Amino acid sequence: MTDDREPTMTGYDQARWIDGDEPRYEPLLSEKDETTVEVGGDDGPLPDDLTRDDLTLPELSEPELARHYTRLSQMNYGIESGPYPLGSCTMKYNPKFTEDVAALPGAAVHPDRPDGTLQGTLELMAHLQDYLARIGGMDEVSLQPPAGAAGEFVGILVAKAYHEHNDEGHRSEVIVPDSAHGTNFATAALAGYDVIEVPSAEDGRVDLDALEAAASEDTAAFMLTNPNTLGLFERNIEAVAEIVHGVGGLLYYDGANLNALLGRARPGDMGFDVMHYNVHKTFATPHGGGGPGAGPVGVVEKLAPFLPAPRVRERDDGFERFDPEYTIGKVHGFEGNWLVLVKAFAYIARLGDDGLRDASAKAVLNANYLAERIGYEVPHGPFHHEFVASAGDQDAADVAKRMLDYGVHPPTTKWPDIVSEALMTEPTEIESRDSLDDLAAAFEAVREEDDETLAAAPDRTTARRIDQTEAARNPRLSWHDLAD
Ligand SMILES: *Cc1c(COP(=O)(O)O)cnc(C)c1O
Repeated sequence: MTDDREPTMTGYDQARWIDGDEPRYEPLLSEKDETTVEVGGDDGPLPDDLTRDDLTLPELSEPELARHYTRLSQMNYGIESGPYPLGSCTMKYNPKFTEDVAALPGAAVHPDRPDGTLQGTLELMAHLQDYLARIGGMDEVSLQPPAGAAGEFVGILVAKAYHEHNDEGHRSEVIVPDSAHGTNFATAALAGYDVIEVPSAEDGRVDLDALEAAASEDTAAFMLTNPNTLGLFERNIEAVAEIVHGVGGLLYYDGANLNALLGRARPGDMGFDVMHYNVHKTFATPHGGGGPGAGPVGVVEKLAPFLPAPRVRERDDGFERFDPEYTIGKVHGFEGNWLVLVKAFAYIARLGDDGLRDASAKAVLNANYLAERIGYEVPHGPFHHEFVASAGDQDAADVAKRMLDYGVHPPTTKWPDIVSEALMTEPTEIESRDSLDDLAAAFEAVREEDDETLAAAPDRTTARRIDQTEAARNPRLSWHDLAD
């Protein structure tokens, strides 16, 4: 393959899988070999229409098989290919030892077994509840919700149950700042609340006057993330808490991303009453392409009786599961996605207090280093774990597509919309200085390119520009769909 195009910055090159201008086709295993094998024998009790006598099974050697899957993985881009600075969504490397821990014999136990035979499992969960409570400054934690958005939903349902229990069921509004993650609006609406959006102040932080004007005896909760999605610390958080608590509302912390706070500051100490944690963004469990995941919820003491059932606690004679007194019920089977939680536990236990503090220091240092270097205008700052640059007169989506040609994954784009053509960038603590320099070089190179080049990007990837709306609304998840 001859190639006179620009080299990639990181050495990661999907273009090796391009033949001429077209992506090379990687045959299915069944296309490589169509050996038919007899599978006859006793069909047992299965009905005839569910059984067959022969089957087309590829007969390939182990190297052929390994190469097939390796090629497929190299046509793709992941956190193990290169930097993945997806702001807010936070892609950090998942250390492999956590997989080993989750694969230990005894880790995958059936949750229907009696508590007395699950003591190790329950003890680990109780410890994880404690770890998360300590990290967030909360009193009690439920491990059950299966994702960040699900955790948010549970948190707001818990807030709602609390208000109703106190004869305050009339509270009908949840306030959300315009910089909030889209799930915050969706959560409040799904829980049956009217969503009141408040604009940010000039400096990108909560506008206290606007919050004060919006807060009333109808306020059930105010949802906030701190540092906010611009990567800015809400310096007025105590005043915010005073306003919200002053009208009898609860303060919700969107803790999807705790990477700036780990071991340094705690939402509970800032006045938050309820929060969720995304273990896949902060505690290095796999993102999982839609699941399984975990989004535990932490609360202050007065909200604990409303948490989902069951929870885990320690008694004199061991650990047991129990249903909180006024529980909102179940939001997932058993205690949630247990093996994901085991990985989060392993990660936290291995890093310990010092390791977590160190991670947050590096996450913040890396974000600020990169913000200085990328060549795009970066309003606001200084930053915490992430920053939002502006693509200026370039289209942020084009910038993103072009970055793929330089062998790096692009940042999150076009959000939050308080920065025009937003490039929301979060390198995380895992990147070395060399890797950050490569990333910066890719940004700088794209900054200099003309609109035509950008609009035609990407041209070095195995999949070219797709119709994103169509892909999201009508995903083709099987090769059968493509064959039509
Ligand atoms: C990712 C994210 C969420 C949602 O978490 P999921 O696990 O993707 O459902 C909520 N809030 C913020 C700020 C996030 O970054």
